[in-house]
Amino acid sequence: MYKKLFIPGPTHVVDEVLEAMAVPMIGHRDSLYSDIHGAVVEKLKKMLYTDNRIYLSTSSSTGMMEGAIRNCVQTKALMTDCGAFSKRWAQIATANGKETEVIKVEMGEAITPEMVDEKLAQGGFDTVCITHNETSTGVTNPIKEIAALVKEKYPDVLVLVDAVSIMSGAEIRVDDWHLDVVLAGTQKAFALPPGLCVISVSDAAYARSETTENKGYYFDFVALEGKAVKSQTPATPAISLINALNVQMDRILAEGVENRFARHAQMAKYVQDWAKEYFELYVRDEKYLSPTITNIKNTRGISVADLNKELAKRGAMLSNGYGALKEKSFRIAHMGDLQMEDLKWLTDQIEDILGL
Ligand SMILES: *Cc1c(COP(=O)(O)O)cnc(C)c1O
Repeated sequence: MYKKLFIPGPTHVVDEVLEAMAVPMIGHRDSLYSDIHGAVVEKLKKMLYTDNRIYLSTSSSTGMMEGAIRNCVQTKALMTDCGAFSKRWAQIATANGKETEVIKVEMGEAITPEMVDEKLAQGGFDTVCITHNETSTGVTNPIKEIAALVKEKYPDVLVLVDAVSIMSGAEIRVDDWHLDVVLAGTQKAFALPPGLCVISVSDAAYARSETTENKGYYFDFVALEGKAVKSQTPATPAISLINALNVQMDRILAEGVENRFARHAQMAKYVQDWAKEYFELYVRDEKYLSPTITNIKNTRGISVADLNKELAKRGAMLSNGYGALKEKSFRIAHMGDLQMEDLKWLTDQIEDILGL
């Protein structure tokens, strides 16, 4: 039996979007393809409030996390470690031979502008990488404030943002907030199948890429731009997924981006309140609570694995705590095309199963 996914990716995909993938193939040098690619890019620009370049990358987000590093870091990158995905980005930088320094905080805590300021003040950095929504802990980092600080005091430092589990679930004003690179895969808040990543690139980030050596081939911004001007990609793209994204962007714009963000905020509030009633929130400082995923402390010592087995019989799945937090916490994703009634249904099932 298929389960409705309340996990932070892949997320529940509605039939209309799935069906948009089951259409005849077209050639990626055909103008029919360029029409779709161009339309998707325009719709993404609206959602992200940006005039920056947008590339569609056939890869999971991890691919573009590596690509962004390789295009942008020439001297030294300031990385963060506030959970599994920010830590992964730092590891990617090191694996690519980049010099880094890492701001590490306890899991469940956020990266603040003050922490970034303290490190950048030491000098020598050309890039800072921030994970907008740390999916492993349920923390949303204050990227707007961090980017404002960087632009004011360190204007030559590029701000790269992993917005993977939050893009399309909360406001990201790419231009107003001066975000040089923002990337996100499609299988999280976008509510599409996995395999595609979208990325916005500012003039400054593009100019940096033009003078960066050894940036590899597949994710080179300059190569991507060469084809993007024709609404194409250098290599064969995941055409079916781009079709689906085109349909999904229409659905997102029809809902209204502000309405979509409000729906996510409402679902988040509902799950947070429920978690506080029966368990505890993992994130202590409520101002950093995520609009797309809630990490719940397993204060009752339940077996999360058993809970998921019972939920599976009823057609649902949630997420165990990530890594070291396995069984110590569990996570409910409230992103993408899930609705309030889905979350209410889920918490009813959990209460029933656990006898709460
Ligand atoms: C899921 C996730 C990733 C990795 O995405 P893949 O598609 O598995 O490569 C990176 N960063 C964050 C914040 C994520 O939630």
